Amino acid sequence: MTVSIDKNSGFCFGVTSAIRKAEEELTRGQLYCLGDIVHNGQEVDRLEKMGLQTIDYDDLRVLHGGRVLLRAHGEPPSTYRIARDNGIEIIDASCPVVLHLQKRIRDTYAAHPEAQIVIFGKVGHAEVIGLMGQTNNNAVVVESKDDLDKVDYDKPIYLFSQTTKSVEEFRELTQLMRERAKAGFEAHDTICRNVANRVARLREFAAAQDVVIFVGGKKSSNAKVLFEQCREANGHTLFVSSAEELSDEHVAEIRRYERVGICGATSTPLWLMESVEERIKEGTMDRNLEV
Ligand code: SF4
Repeated sequence: MTVSIDKNSGFCFGVTSAIRKAEEELTRGQLYCLGDIVHNGQEVDRLEKMGLQTIDYDDLRVLHGGRVLLRAHGEPPSTYRIARDNGIEIIDASCPVVLHLQKRIRDTYAAHPEAQIVIFGKVGHAEVIGLMGQTNNNAVVVESKDDLDKVDYDKPIYLFSQTTKSVEEFRELTQLMRERAKAGFEAHDTICRNVANRVARLREFAAAQDVVIFVGGKKSSNAKVLFEQCREANGHTLFVSSAEELSDEHVAEIRRYERVGICGATSTPLWLMESVEERIKEGTMDRNLEV
């Protein structure tokens, strides 16, 4: 039996470096994080045990002093303003790719005040809140082609994308908006290539295994989508949130297969996939089974 972990699963470099920064800064004392550092309960718990305290915008407004870490998604200018006014030290772990996108949107908005900035993304998503903030919240968010009527086609249009959206959908939207635009249209594909090809790579990995254990948070929408992709590519796919969810019967069944693959969502930490690997290799909780 071979057990392998998909190299393309798990955190992107933006999230990995935000977590590393949190770990480093925690050694210097108390640290707050504005919003969950990652959409994975176990990873948040791990960092909270090290002392990280997760706060929301209401907490930030009444906080005075202290150090607040900004996660990879990035923040709108208002967050930096509140921090300055309240004497809060910002530890900025915003992903450089997101910061670059924020700057592009900010510059476009400043250079073309008559135009309409359109962001292909999810309303209320942390990254989108940060992007909207670059336009004083004057940009229009389009979630899908059902939202195309929200755009004013009599104005010049500049289209950008949240970094984690689908390339295919962005291309389709671009085409549809170009056909409607009456006063000029520019599309900027700002989808992060770190995650853009994940689905294809995940399917490839799943198809090459005899059985697949997909590790993901129960509440993560990304995990649900990627799990379905895995299951389509390989019918022998099991969803778990942790190694503890694998009973001895599950493990015994899995160990009947030759090639066992472990993969996960964008928010699944490597250590969680490694603990599943260990659980399968060990066999039973009593470690009685032989490999
Ligand atoms: S821009 Fe890319 S690397 Fe940065 S946080 Fe988003 S997905 Fe991760």
